Amino acid sequence: MVEDRLDTHVEPIRHAEAATDMSPKKTRRLFLQDCSTSAAALAAMATAAPAGAADAGAAPHEGTASICVTCSSQFAETAKPPEHCPICEDERQYVNPDGQQWTSLEALRASHKNVIKKEESDLHSINTEPKFGIGQRAFLIRTPEGNVLWDCVALLDDATIARVKELGGIAEIAISHPHYYSTMVEWSRAFGGAPIHIHEAERPWVMRPDPCIRFWKGRTQDLRGGLKLVSTGGHFEGYQVLHWPAGAEGRGALMAGDQPQICMDPEQVSFMYSYPNYIPLNATAIRHVVECLDPLEYDRIYGAFFIRGKGIVPTGGKGVVRRSADRYLRAILG
Ligand SMILES: [Zn+2]
Ligand SMILES: [Zn+2]
Repeated sequence: MVEDRLDTHVEPIRHAEAATDMSPKKTRRLFLQDCSTSAAALAAMATAAPAGAADAGAAPHEGTASICVTCSSQFAETAKPPEHCPICEDERQYVNPDGQQWTSLEALRASHKNVIKKEESDLHSINTEPKFGIGQRAFLIRTPEGNVLWDCVALLDDATIARVKELGGIAEIAISHPHYYSTMVEWSRAFGGAPIHIHEAERPWVMRPDPCIRFWKGRTQDLRGGLKLVSTGGHFEGYQVLHWPAGAEGRGALMAGDQPQICMDPEQVSFMYSYPNYIPLNATAIRHVVECLDPLEYDRIYGAFFIRGKGIVPTGGKGVVRRSADRYLRAILG
């Protein structure tokens, strides 16, 4: 059940391939280098591809912004789909067992829909049905100074835009980490070029560069309405959570994405370098995440998935994080 909700669906054959991916030859640095190269190459291809290129099957325009079926990342426009998805080829994810597959936003609009649900006052979740890609949800947080979209889903259609506009639109976007970047640029464009706040350390993982993306450096970044981004590292070097002080009836909410990951038991959270490939975080990383979260006042935690229909630690979230981190450290340190 839980595997249905996490970045999972790892079939047995993938375990063997994952082991290969984790060979010393493919270090994290090499992956990042590959990604930088890929992103740069894609950008160059997009620029170089002339309109109406005489390429068999190429559309008579600048091309398609392909979406990876497995991780839902949208890439810069190209005449043909890219050869690889660096996010899926990273040791934290996995390539579709049937090979790399691509789709488009147009195709997705015909086969999926978004369900927008009120979670509490001034908070709505946005979830795509049936499940697409990793299966995360996004959240729209309303503040008196404008709305913030936290995390993102690939599907953006007219019905979604209309409903989000009814709720006040989107003034700013922030996304926890590259697994959820999906079609963030489409969302920004649909809402007046809303800035997308991403930590500088994740720049190599942006597959569709755009001026609307604002990279920030350091430990924290203030957003409107008292919201604050906190970079914790861990699952990704520039991983960020969003602190919403007005959440949980003013007791504060932590918008966690998938770190801390809410467990089947909502009295527990966990921390992983890779969820689908079961690569744990080390003690130093766990302690750093806890140290970054400790100064924040929060009672409730919202995770990226509808775990058992909820994916929420409704109350006592800070204690849950501390106890879970202690449990984790005992488990890995022996
Ligand atoms: Zn992918
Ligand atoms: Zn992830």
